[in-house]
Amino acid sequence: MNLLVMIYSFLIANIILGVVLCFTSSYSLMQNKKNFYWLHITVLSVSAFELILSALFIFNEQYQQFLFAISTQLLWSCALLYTFFHHAQLKKRNDYLQQELEKHLNLYEEIKSMALSDGLTNIANRRSFDMFLKTELRRATSLCHPVSLIILDLDKFKIFNDTFGHIIGDKLLSQIGQILRQNVRQIDLPARYGGEEFSIILPTSTLEEATVLAEKLRKAIEESYFPDNVGNFTAKITASFGIATYDPNIILSPPDAEKIISIADKALYKAKHNGRNCIFGANIFQ
Ligand code: GH3
Ligand code: MG
Ligand code: MG
Repeated sequence: MNLLVMIYSFLIANIILGVVLCFTSSYSLMQNKKNFYWLHITVLSVSAFELILSALFIFNEQYQQFLFAISTQLLWSCALLYTFFHHAQLKKRNDYLQQELEKHLNLYEEIKSMALSDGLTNIANRRSFDMFLKTELRRATSLCHPVSLIILDLDKFKIFNDTFGHIIGDKLLSQIGQILRQNVRQIDLPARYGGEEFSIILPTSTLEEATVLAEKLRKAIEESYFPDNVGNFTAKITASFGIATYDPNIILSPPDAEKIISIADKALYKAKHNGRNCIFGANIFQ
């Protein structure tokens, strides 16, 4: 093979390589503007420049310079190919990590919701109730607004269970959760306090406002029909309510969580004592 044929093959190879490099660099730039941005810009410019240069060298029969140009072109192409493969690998790994992250985030949300909500009634559980109450008591003191706590207990629920069975009792509890969710404000926290007892924390509500809500809930429960043991909605239940309100305008030092719960509990006991299906409330004075 004579020198000229070799040089012309190099020239053709160089032109193909240059065109490929121009295309691949432009494509990479369009596809992913961030990764290897400057490398691709440089490769693109140098490839274009070297294409012109090689043509000029050949045109002027400067074969040594042409060989130099083609070897640098080869170097560039190696660098580019490396970044391509590396980028493809990184992208694959990145996609995988992204998927894993999403999976873990979903799992985290699921576990968090399991840890903070009650599985049967789909409202907050005792743990989130405790956390929310402590926070709201602190906020009430620093922002100088009241906070009320309602505790409600289903009346004669044991008899309901004995009549219809525990599974139907569970369905009723779940429906009670729904009634609470539907009737409170966004800022309130309805929770399952335990067994057939529920609680609602009402930030910024005075005793009067909490009593209005309790009455609305009492009526809603009294007027609702719950599933019976043959699948019809004929079962009835009522609930008794105890309310305690901490108002920083009445007492300066905030009560601790145990105190407000115990006052709401005592109020609930009075409501039960008064014949059930009623409300009893008290402001905290000391
Ligand atoms: P009172 O009006 O005095 O509150 O009477 P009561 O029957 O509601 O109260 P008591 O404390 O005697 O009974 C509570 C019942 O609640 C007994 C228990 O079996 C039932 N209970 C507690 N947790 C659950 C639950 O998760 N599912 C079901 N189905 N029943 C429950
Ligand atoms: Mg009870
Ligand atoms: Mg009860």
